[in-house]
Amino acid sequence: MKHTKSTALFEEANRVIPGGVNSPVRAFQSVGMPPVFIDHGKGSKIYDADGNEYTDYICSWGPLILGHAADTYYDGIDEALRKGNTYGAPTEIEIRVAEMIIDAYPSMDMVRMVNSGTEATMSAIRLARGYTGREKFIKFEGCYHGHSDSLLVKSGSGTLTYGVPTSPGVTAGTAKDTLVATYNDLDSVKKLFDENKGEIACVIVEPVAGNMGVVPPDSTFMKGLRKLTEEEGTLLIFDEVITGFRLAFGGAQEVLGIKPDLTTLGKIIGGGMPVGAFGGRRDIMEKLSPLGPVYQAGTLSGNPIAMKMGLNTLTYLKEHPEVYTHLEDCARQLEAGFNKNIKETGVKAKMVRFGGMSALFFTDQEICDFNSVMTSDTKTYAKYFAEMLNRGNLMPPAQFEGIFVSAAHTKADIEKTIADNLAALKALA
Ligand code: PLP
Repeated sequence: MKHTKSTALFEEANRVIPGGVNSPVRAFQSVGMPPVFIDHGKGSKIYDADGNEYTDYICSWGPLILGHAADTYYDGIDEALRKGNTYGAPTEIEIRVAEMIIDAYPSMDMVRMVNSGTEATMSAIRLARGYTGREKFIKFEGCYHGHSDSLLVKSGSGTLTYGVPTSPGVTAGTAKDTLVATYNDLDSVKKLFDENKGEIACVIVEPVAGNMGVVPPDSTFMKGLRKLTEEEGTLLIFDEVITGFRLAFGGAQEVLGIKPDLTTLGKIIGGGMPVGAFGGRRDIMEKLSPLGPVYQAGTLSGNPIAMKMGLNTLTYLKEHPEVYTHLEDCARQLEAGFNKNIKETGVKAKMVRFGGMSALFFTDQEICDFNSVMTSDTKTYAKYFAEMLNRGNLMPPAQFEGIFVSAAHTKADIEKTIADNLAALKALA
C-alpha cells in the first residue's frame, strides 16, 4: 500500500500547522508513522489521498453513526444553506433540536447548544459551580472531557498517548480545584468528599469510559456515585459526548437507569458538524444567562446548518431503533472474533466491550480503571495498527481510544476485519 501523497501532504502541513494536524491524535504519532490524509468517505469506507480504501473504525471519533456521507445527513441542507447559514438571532430549528434531545433524556428539562464537547463540559462545570456556590469538583483519572483548563488534569484520550495527562499551561491555581478519583472505585470518591466537606460542586464522569480505550462501569459504581452525590448536595454530570445517542437513543443513562443532574452531549447531535450541548434540571439550567447569573454564550451556537444536520441524524435514529441493535451486533461480532484470534495466536491481548463500544488492549490484566489500562503494550499496538492499515482497516491510531462502528458497517466488513485481525496478530506473534 502506497502513501506517497499522504506523506507529501503531511510534510506540507507540518510547515503551516503545528504537528501538521488540527487535533493531536490525527498525527498518528503514537503509532510511529505519518498519518493518512483523507480524500473522502462513503458508508463504512474511507479513502485516502493515494486512493487506498479502508474500512473505517474511527468514524470521526463518534459523530458518524450513520457512516460517511449518508444521504440522511444532507436532507434539505442545500435549501437551508441558501436561506442563510448564520444570523446571531434565534431560529425555529433550535427549538426542534432541543425538544428532540429533551424527549430522549428524561433527566433534562432544558438544554443549551454549544459548538463542541469541550464547550459543553466547560459550561456545565461553570454552571454547577454557580448553582452550588462551591469551587471544587471531582473527575476520574483517564476520563477525557475536552481541553478546557480545569478538565485537562489527569486526562484521557490524546493526553495519555502524548504523556501529558496534565498539560503545561494549566496553572496550579486552576488544577487545585480539580480533584481526581479512580474510575470504578467509590471509596476513592468518598475519601475526596471526606477531605473536602461541603466544597464539591459536582462530579463529572464518562458513564462508560471511552477515552482510555473502553472501560465499562462496575454495576454498583454508578449507582453509588448517584447516591453519594445526592447525599453531599453535589451535582452529578454525565459526560455523554461519546455515549449520548450511541449506546442507546437515551444514552448511557437510559442503559444504566440513572438520572444525572446535568448531561453533556456532542458528536452525534451535530451529524458531523461542530456541535455540543448541555442540559439538565430546570432549576439548575435557569441559573444560566440571560435568566440567571452564570454567563455562557456563543456567536455560532445553535447554528442553523449544524442544527439541520443534527436534527436529520437524530430523527433517523429515533425512527430506526434497529441501528442500536446493529451497532451492538457489530461490536459483539468483533469482540468474539478478535478474542478467538487472540486465543489461537497466543498474543497477550483482550477485547473489552460495552454495548456498541469496544477496544482492543494489548495486556492480560483485567480492565477496570486507568492503572489497568496503562498495563497495555503501546509498542505492540503500534505494530498491530500498521498491520491492520496495510490490510485496509483504519483502526484508532492510539492504544487508548475506542473502536467506532456505524449503521453502514456490514457483516462482510466485520468478517473481513476479523480475518485481517488474525493475520495481523499472527504477524506479531
Ligand atoms: N467529552 C468526551 C467524553 C469526549 O470524548 C470528548 C472528545 O472526544 C469531549 C468531551 C470533547 O469534545 P470535543 O472534541 O468536541 O471538544
